Amino acid sequence: MSFFDTSVAEIVKAVQSGTVTAAELVEKSLAAIAEKNEEINAFITVCSDEARARAKEIDALSAEQKSTMVLCGIPIAVKDNISTKGIQTTSGSKILKGYTPPYDADSVERIIAAGAIIVGKTNLDEFAMGSSNENSAYGIVRNPRNTNAVPGGSSGGSAAAVAADMVPLALGSDTGGSIRQPASHCGIVGIKPTYGMVSRYGLIAYASSLDQIGPMGNSVEDCALLLSVIAGDDRRDSTNARKTYSNDAFSSVKGKKIGLPAEYFGEGLTDEVRAIIDEKKAKLVEAGAELVTVHLPHVSHAIATYYVIATAEASSNLSRFDGVKFGHRAEGTTSLIDMYKKTRAEGFGEEVKKRIMLGTYVLSSGYYDAYYLKAAQVRTLITQDFENAFKECNLILSPVTPAPAFMIGEKTSDPIQMYLTDIYTVSANLAGIPGISVPAGEVNGLPVGAQLMAPKWGEKGMLDAAKIIS
Ligand code: GLN
Repeated sequence: MSFFDTSVAEIVKAVQSGTVTAAELVEKSLAAIAEKNEEINAFITVCSDEARARAKEIDALSAEQKSTMVLCGIPIAVKDNISTKGIQTTSGSKILKGYTPPYDADSVERIIAAGAIIVGKTNLDEFAMGSSNENSAYGIVRNPRNTNAVPGGSSGGSAAAVAADMVPLALGSDTGGSIRQPASHCGIVGIKPTYGMVSRYGLIAYASSLDQIGPMGNSVEDCALLLSVIAGDDRRDSTNARKTYSNDAFSSVKGKKIGLPAEYFGEGLTDEVRAIIDEKKAKLVEAGAELVTVHLPHVSHAIATYYVIATAEASSNLSRFDGVKFGHRAEGTTSLIDMYKKTRAEGFGEEVKKRIMLGTYVLSSGYYDAYYLKAAQVRTLITQDFENAFKECNLILSPVTPAPAFMIGEKTSDPIQMYLTDIYTVSANLAGIPGISVPAGEVNGLPVGAQLMAPKWGEKGMLDAAKIIS
């Protein structure tokens, strides 16, 4: 079931033509949140007053003004590591409890200008570090498809909010799979755009060379529409590539070559997920595409490379949370250094502390060459693997995760097992290429996604194929 059982574009048309009001949509969304959020815990903050006020403003606009807004009246959820002016933004951390940004992220400015209405900020693993949403200072998120299972992470709140029909669209962020993996676990669609397509201005940084904001929704069409809104030129992010995404009609995949990386279909992949991906291969062939085997010889090092680079960047990015400028400050301290120490000890959770320590270690003199520099070199090899593979195919098809969502608590005591669930997603971030997860099947009632990846700026072709398999 999806929000209003129709596409976002259809709902927008209804608002524009006056058959439904933005106020009615917001009430529907708030009622669903009131009914389900206590159990699912998808939202950290629900901004009912702001949403109702904005709906009134939208409903008061002229038909002509509404006609230019491609998300006119659509209730939307925003991951709580994306800054929203005047609305608490915690990044899932105690250290940012009560912090209200004085500005909107670029992607937030864009969705608001397009007529979307933010109804709340969604739960996440603290600072987007996690694969299960069990690392949030605001409690775990439950998978709406089975409330004993994790929703995936770190954008688990956004995925659960869409899957539980509280909103039709959400923004997430993906550093190593955090949009695609929860989308897969909750049975929705999620896109990680090419690095540089969506501005990171206002995204609370985890690992800046990997982070991208992206759309999450019920269908490929809905996500394509949201991508066309959030992609674009922003001089406030120096890594923004000044590209746009145009939401054109889908094209055929006839004659397109779909690469199947041999390394992604070996050991570790469960038979059930393999069978689901096999069905999608057949669908693409039926639509006129050709399957080819490709090789990514260095991806076996992707997890190790990712966790060195991501933690190194995180250790640097998180140094700004010191009790001086944002959020929490420890009481009763005796000196500045003591205040820094106590604030960070109280404010950060276990996983974040672990990653700051690991990142500081791999960057420290004496270890830098052995770990960080080596990881940066392997990252280049992985990027080249994809460049070579894309000489032989237009797109890559793969699983999103080796298995469906695991049960809450199942992997918390084994971080290596937890990190290994990211095996098929982290490489796209290391290489800067786009990836999408689309619902592909079910195992024991739990959804399983299929992933498509494309060369940089190949979103259009990727979505054409995603439409076929969705
Ligand atoms: N699970 C990965 C990590 O913990 C990815 C997180 C993300 O994409 N934000 O780092």
